[in-house]
Amino acid sequence: MYLDTIIVGAGFSGLYQLHKCRDQLGLKTLVIEEGKDVGGTWYWNKYPGSRCDTESHIYCYTFSKEIYKNWKWKERYPKQKEILNYLKYVEKKLKLRKDIIFNNRVISATYLENKKLWSLKTNKNRLFYCRYLISAVGSLSVANIPNINGIKSFKGDWYHSGRWPNKKISFKNKKVAQIGTGSTGIQIAPVLAKSVKSLTIFQRTPNYSIPARNRKLTKSFVENTKKNYLKIKNLLTKTPGGHAFHFAKKSIFEFNETKRLKILDKAWLNGGLSFRACFSDITKKLSANKIVSNYIRDKIINIVKDKEIAKKLTDFGHPFTSKRPTLNTNYFETFNRKNVRLIDLKTNPIIKITKNGIRTRKEELKFDKIIFATGYDALSGPILSLNLIGRKKIKLKKYWKNGPKTFLGIMIPNFPNFFIISGPGSPSVLTNVPAQIQQHVEWISNFIKYLEKVKSISVEPSFKETESWVKKINKLAKQSLFMKAKNSWYKGDNIPGKPKKFIPYPAGLPQYRKICNKVQKRMYKGFKISLK
Ligand code: NAP
Repeated sequence: MYLDTIIVGAGFSGLYQLHKCRDQLGLKTLVIEEGKDVGGTWYWNKYPGSRCDTESHIYCYTFSKEIYKNWKWKERYPKQKEILNYLKYVEKKLKLRKDIIFNNRVISATYLENKKLWSLKTNKNRLFYCRYLISAVGSLSVANIPNINGIKSFKGDWYHSGRWPNKKISFKNKKVAQIGTGSTGIQIAPVLAKSVKSLTIFQRTPNYSIPARNRKLTKSFVENTKKNYLKIKNLLTKTPGGHAFHFAKKSIFEFNETKRLKILDKAWLNGGLSFRACFSDITKKLSANKIVSNYIRDKIINIVKDKEIAKKLTDFGHPFTSKRPTLNTNYFETFNRKNVRLIDLKTNPIIKITKNGIRTRKEELKFDKIIFATGYDALSGPILSLNLIGRKKIKLKKYWKNGPKTFLGIMIPNFPNFFIISGPGSPSVLTNVPAQIQQHVEWISNFIKYLEKVKSISVEPSFKETESWVKKINKLAKQSLFMKAKNSWYKGDNIPGKPKKFIPYPAGLPQYRKICNKVQKRMYKGFKISLK
């Protein structure tokens, strides 16, 4: 099957990109999706307690006033099901389904230099050809399932949060093990704890977490967001993370202790990701960060009744926000329940998974079910899973051997006409992802429009620009607090053998947008465009 454009993935990015390519650029476009339906992340992540920790009125598309105004969010943070329904609504509204094929995973993509086409193969042995190939596979779609000895011998069921089965799973009265305490684990535990017989949480690194303070949205709030559609849309282009809050202008050091505490208490009570923005320097300056990290530690210690457990939950070893900040609803309170236990993997590591459960250095534990909330081979993993082979038979795996290299996070030398939405080298996971996705889809679409106009047959970035983009990211990362975390998936530390390089662009969405716009204005300087 021959197409102008193939998009891989039918989540937030794939759906919008299909609309752009098909309805605005008039290109014959197809989306190939592994799942049975649209949704991407929100199709796969059906685990108990799954919801977004970005506020609903901004965790959505803003490109269409009509779509924005016609959808009513129910809660401050949308549940997985609600986001999935939203994406289905968008898909229906834009009549996208007819150009999506489901249940097909792209297993290889090879550039045919003589034909100037990409050839794609799926796990169902279907073959496709296209001129433009766009990855909309997301940043967090390749599950990290730790290679723990004995997993095959386990008689019970095990699940990864990001590959949650489509059927209903009952945990009622079960003995459950949960491995991992990142954003996902912190969401799962309080929900599961209510119904299981016992929940044993295996923690490798304790995590800072801010109260989410979820609530039902009032009618007047919802009406207000619709009234202020343009204002909100505009605001999301101005804030560093594409969120609806600005960072405070003043440093924490401009206040005495009493006033500092008052500001922190107010932000804590409000909850949400904006907590980190209550002073200008929490995410930038170690001395300011220390004060806030200690504040969070004290709050947690106050919640958890058993002081030994509280200590284990707060033995952070990294500054707040150097790893992905998490939100919680009663996570720390969960450890006050009789049926919940914390295993600190630093002092009591897992030796193996057995027929009946998990053996740690100190004991043998029986479980009916194991949940891996162990994260992802982030950013580069999903792109590499496409098994791309570019010009001169160059394998992407080889070119990225020492870490992902892109220009602007969008294109790769020797991989012509291949575009990435929210890929390595873009702000992606450091932002409110739909905001970044829209910027990328619009930029890529404008680029393709230009390429069509000038009758380009192929385009790719120069090596020089790509190398200098990678250097720029490394330099920016070195100046940031992100590098103060010993182990972080932002740097690939969570995957054995993965190159230890900071992956996303860390200087914020407005700065990144500025750079992209400049490249566009300069007729795509940094890209080599071959004409017919
Ligand atoms: P994660 O942040 O990578 O957390 C994985 C957890 O598993 C960490 O506690 C990690 O410990 C642990 N772990 C990994 N490998 C392990 C091993 N071999 N043995 C024991 N423990 C292990 O993954 P996540 O919680 O799924 O979150 C990933 C990202 O998804 C988030 O950061 C966020 O961007 C996104 N997310 C978003 C939402 C949302 O509300 N929008 C919700 C969930 C997830 P270490 O810390 O020591 O590595």
